Amino acid sequence: MTDVTSELRRMITESRRAVVFTGAGISTESGIPDFRSPGGLWERFDPQVYANYRVFLKVPSKYWEMEREVTKIVQAADPNPAHKAIVKLEERGKLSAVITQNIDMLHQRAGTDSPIYELHGSAMTGTCVKCDALYKRQEILIKLEKSQVPFCDECGGAIKYDVVLFNEMLPYETITKAIKATKKSDCLIVVGSSLLVSPANQLPLIAKNAGAKLIVVNIEETPIDNVADIVLRGKAGKILPKIVNF
Ligand code: NAD
Repeated sequence: MTDVTSELRRMITESRRAVVFTGAGISTESGIPDFRSPGGLWERFDPQVYANYRVFLKVPSKYWEMEREVTKIVQAADPNPAHKAIVKLEERGKLSAVITQNIDMLHQRAGTDSPIYELHGSAMTGTCVKCDALYKRQEILIKLEKSQVPFCDECGGAIKYDVVLFNEMLPYETITKAIKATKKSDCLIVVGSSLLVSPANQLPLIAKNAGAKLIVVNIEETPIDNVADIVLRGKAGKILPKIVNF
């Protein structure tokens, strides 16, 4: 057994309030591309344009052009061994929360029962940007079969999933709860995030400063590797099951 392996096992064994912080990289093995995959979705749909709130207010069809494709990809995806390993951590009584930047609902579908804080909102519902009328995802999908943009029944305004676009505020209550869980955690495991998107990328350092152990799982370097207690380089779907199954 290597030093890193025994140290990792010790951290997980001693942990009582682990928090797993996930980014798009945990879902690439489910077939959902992250922002970095070459030749992927995001080369055709620059998120700064197609996922930009200011652009949405002027030309909502751009967002829905991208979102139609994302919706198809997300609907075809299933939780992978990394999402399932987090459920295992929960079953072992170690997990206090999942904090995710993802909007693919794969943690919920994997069966995570602990609180899931979706920092960038949820695509389970949508809201009319004009009158704030609320719609369920299923109602929006039905509207999308009939028109390019789903419009509000009340006022005719454009509906957008309740996900956070560039130039939009993060959900304040969710962020506050996520920070609270982070400060209380004894071990924060960062999985598949480039940690380039602020303020979500502050959470690992908040955890570290509050005394938690910091574990990073990624196929490439991240900006916090130098402060992490353990860095595991590789695919989340291979590494996470090893972290929890021993
Ligand atoms: P990102 O695209 O910036 O970074 C993904 C990171 O995951 C990269 O560092 C990459 O090296 C790593 N990675 C890719 N595959 C991996 C694997 N199999 N195992 C381990 N690591 C892997 O994503 P981000 O940091 O989450 O931030 C960007 C934004 O992208 C977020 O706001 C998120 O909402 C949005 N997004 C979400 C989804 C989704 O819901 N699945 C998909 C694309 C983008």
